[in-house]
Amino acid sequence: MAPYTQQKTVVIGAGPVGALAALYAARRGDAVEIYELRDDLRNPSTIPLNFTKSINLALSERGINSMRQAQCPGLLDAVLAETIPMHGRMIHGEEHGKLYEQSQTYDVRGRFIRAIDRAGLNKRLLDELERMPNVTFYFNHKLTGADFNRRIAWFEQRSKPVAGPRPPEIEINFDFMIGADGAHSAVRFHLMKYARMTYQQEYIETLWCEFRIDPSLDGTFRLSPNHLHIWPGQEFMFIAIPSMDSSFTSTLFLPASHFAELDRSPSTLVDFFKDRFPGVVPDLISEADLVKQYSENPHLPLINIKCAPFHYSSSVAILGDAAHAMVPFYGQGMNAGLEDVRVLYDFLDAYRPSPGSMPGGSDGMRERALSEFSKFRTSDAHVINDLALRNYQEMRSDVTSPIYKLRKWIEEK
Ligand code: FAD
Repeated sequence: MAPYTQQKTVVIGAGPVGALAALYAARRGDAVEIYELRDDLRNPSTIPLNFTKSINLALSERGINSMRQAQCPGLLDAVLAETIPMHGRMIHGEEHGKLYEQSQTYDVRGRFIRAIDRAGLNKRLLDELERMPNVTFYFNHKLTGADFNRRIAWFEQRSKPVAGPRPPEIEINFDFMIGADGAHSAVRFHLMKYARMTYQQEYIETLWCEFRIDPSLDGTFRLSPNHLHIWPGQEFMFIAIPSMDSSFTSTLFLPASHFAELDRSPSTLVDFFKDRFPGVVPDLISEADLVKQYSENPHLPLINIKCAPFHYSSSVAILGDAAHAMVPFYGQGMNAGLEDVRVLYDFLDAYRPSPGSMPGGSDGMRERALSEFSKFRTSDAHVINDLALRNYQEMRSDVTSPIYKLRKWIEEK
């Protein structure tokens, strides 16, 4: 009988989902290789994803439980220590010339979501992987091709000096590939040539631009730190999420055509903010800072992707944004991606071959696990995509409906 050989799992993409997937694979003893297009995120000169300084995210139980199940001692405590509880949303507005704030709690039993810095979480997961002897990183490696029958993949080595017209390419083999390479996934692109994949993509009309609200002069938060703040504008909105350094990361969500109008002059932008987001300028962001941040920070699109299946044969599965990129309004894109990892490994564990099985026997088991995963996960992913789209209406408009005012009145009685 041939000896049992260690399974080689390659993970494409070292974002939060790829990093967690690599941890799950490494904890099971696989030889794990992680290939990442960009340089190591922990290197200060690395250009962050989307070219913004940071994205603050809402971390919910969906994502927390997936880290809990990773069974890495101390990981979850370390992650949660760098979060800020958000017990509800705070709606900002103006009535009869007076500014008002209305707190709308998320849960009658006091449960809450948490604000977290995406880069911070990502770095923490990479640090955890660094400590594992069966994990190897390949930064500056871009997946350019894959043969999912022969289990071979090709990468451009971007850190190497280029002698010819293109960077040098390497070829690797693998037993199992996990594609966690984001919304514009190369793994998904190649998977489409093998699986009969149904695919749907849409860009919504809204773009987003990030701003920062600095701490006040005495270093404290300028707004309640335990809320997700919303300035609803019916067709658009401005939000703010707390950060550990007492600042807020804020985002303007606005139709592209409206951005084009604001581009006309700095005064158009300032007047728009004063008129539609009362209390922001100059109380939280100065006029000059608003104009500077608006012109320096990119205005980025929002994509919604649904596809199925999420796998081919026993050789590849896609997770996270690669499988279901969604608009950010439900705060669940990363959380759902982290949950994909837990669900995938629930199926892989259920179909895991016993140690000592013949090489190749594990392929059949993995194929069944991946097929079950795809079937089980597709409908959940599609529903979360739909809820995310629907929740934009909730955040930018419905939060001001009389029903919330009535609820608040009842809570106060
Ligand atoms: P990514 O984070 O996109 O990582 C993919 C990685 O793959 C990248 O590092 C990339 O460099 C690498 N890569 C790409 N192509 C290749 C290649 N060819 N070869 C090798 N590597 C490659 N989610 C939440 O849960 N809560 C929130 O509150 C929230 N708010 C958001 C707010 C905004 C404004 C936006 C835009 C998103 C928000 N999201 C939120 C969504 C969240 O950011 C994403 O769902 C999450 O980052 C997806 O993680 P991922 O690891 O699947 O993909």
